[in-house]
Amino acid sequence: MEILHVSAECYPVAKAGGLGDVVGALPKYQQQAGHQAKVVMPMYRTRFLYSNEWELVHKGYTNMGSYFFDYSVIKEKHNKLGFELYLVDIYGLLDREQIYGYGDDNDRFVSFQIAVVDWLSSWAFRPDVVHVHDHHTALIPFLLQHTYKYRHLAQIPTVLTIHNAQYQGSMDWSKSVLLPEWDLWKRGMLEWAGAINPLASGIKCASKVTTVSWSYLDELKYMSNGLEALFEYEKGKCVGILNGIDTQVWNPSADIYLKDDFSVQNVAKGKARNKQLLCDEFGLDPQKPLFVFIGRLVHEKAADLLPSVVGDSFYHIGRKMSFLFLGSGDPAVEAQLNGLNMLSQNDYSCYIGYNEQLSHMMYAAADFLLMPSRVEPCGLNQMYAMRYGTVPLVRNTGGLRDTVRDIDQHDGYGIVFDSATVGHITHAIWRACDLYGKSVEFEQSRIRMMQLDFSWEKSTEAYQQIYLSLK
Ligand code: ADP
Repeated sequence: MEILHVSAECYPVAKAGGLGDVVGALPKYQQQAGHQAKVVMPMYRTRFLYSNEWELVHKGYTNMGSYFFDYSVIKEKHNKLGFELYLVDIYGLLDREQIYGYGDDNDRFVSFQIAVVDWLSSWAFRPDVVHVHDHHTALIPFLLQHTYKYRHLAQIPTVLTIHNAQYQGSMDWSKSVLLPEWDLWKRGMLEWAGAINPLASGIKCASKVTTVSWSYLDELKYMSNGLEALFEYEKGKCVGILNGIDTQVWNPSADIYLKDDFSVQNVAKGKARNKQLLCDEFGLDPQKPLFVFIGRLVHEKAADLLPSVVGDSFYHIGRKMSFLFLGSGDPAVEAQLNGLNMLSQNDYSCYIGYNEQLSHMMYAAADFLLMPSRVEPCGLNQMYAMRYGTVPLVRNTGGLRDTVRDIDQHDGYGIVFDSATVGHITHAIWRACDLYGKSVEFEQSRIRMMQLDFSWEKSTEAYQQIYLSLK
C-alpha cells in the first residue's frame, strides 16, 4: 500500500513537539511492515537540509489567489530515515528557519498544501491514501474534493490524524480567495464558528479521522476548543489509535545522546551514573530524588503551575528533592522559572530553550517526570520516561490515562493524580518521595515500566486497518 504523509513536522528534519516524533517514526514502521510510506513537508532551512544530499524531483507553477508562484520538490537521496522524504520549497514562504511563529503562518501552510496537491496531480499513479496531520495540512481533503482544478483527485481516500485539537488554524473568510477556485455550495465544508477552520474542514472532509489516544477521543466530545458538537456529529468516522514510540531512537541501551548506556539489567547503576553527570552539570545534589519537566511551557501543559509547585514542595515536604526543568514557551513562565534559580540550594535548575540532547539525558538521569497537563492528546514524554526507567507523575487525562497505571493499583508503576492544581501535584511529589525511600518497590516499578511495550508495531497495524476500510 502506498501512503503519502503530509505534515508540518518530521523528526529529525524539523520538530517542535510530538507531531514531529510521530511523523518521523510511523512511516518507518509502515515501511518495515511492507508498505511504501512517503513523507512530504515544507523545506525549512534546518540543519538536516544542509547536512544531507537531495535530488530535484519536481518543479511546478501554481497560484494562491492572485499570487502566482514556482515551487520545487526535492527528495532525500538515500532514504536515510527509512522512508522517502520530500521537501517542498516556495520562495518567500517556506524558506524560513522556524517551523511556526510567523505572522503569515496561515498563508505559508495554505501555499504548502496547494503545492502538495498540485504536485500530486502530476503523478502517474495515485497513492492509496493521503494521510494528513493536524490543522497545517487539514485543508487537503477539501482541496482534493471540492476545488475544480483538482477534483480529478477526489477519489483518493484521506485520513486526518489529530495530534492536538487546541490549535485549529482558524482564519478569516477573506482568506477564501487564496484557495483554488472551489465549489461555493461547499462553503459549509470549510466553515466553523463564522470562519474558515482548517481542522474542522479536515474533520468534515477526510474519509477517516484518528486521534492519538482513546481517552482523548472521548474528551474531544466535551472539551475541544469549540469543536465539541462536530466531534459528536462525526463520531462515526473517528477512531483513537495510541501513538507508539520509536524504540530505535529512544533506546537507553543505544542512545546516541548518552555517555552511559544502560538496560533493564543494570537500571539502578546506569541511571545513577547518568544522574551524577547531569547533577554535576546543573549543580544539583545527586543524593536527592530528581524531578524533571520537559516540554512546552504553555497552559495546556500546566507549566504555569511549576513555579508554585517548587515553592510548595520545598515548604510542605522539605528540601528533600531536586528539580530540573527544560522548556520554552510563555515568557512569564520562563521568567519565573529563571527567577527560582536564586533560591536554589543545589536543588533547583532550569534550561530555557529547546535541546534534544539534554532531553535524552534528562529522561535517562531523572527519578521522576512531572506531567501535570491540563490537556494531553497522547503525550510521548511519559512513554520515553518509562522506557528510561523514570517514574512518571501524570494527571489523569487523555493519553496519560491510557498509558500510566498508578502504583497503588495491581501491577501499577506510575503516580496518577486527578487535577492540575498545585495541591494535587505537590501531593503526587510527596508520594514519589515516599516511593523513592522504598528501594525495593522503586526498583520494581522501574523494571516493570522498562518492560512495557509502547512500540509502533501495534499502532501501525491499527492504521493499516483504517486504510483498508477505505478501499
Ligand atoms: P507536545 O507534542 O504536546 O509538545 P508530546 O509529549 O506529544 O507533547 O511530545 C513532546 C516531544 O517534544 C517529546 O519528544 C519531548 O521530549 C520534546 N520536547 C518538548 N520540549 C522540548 C525541549 N524544550 N527540548 C527538547 N525536547 C523537547
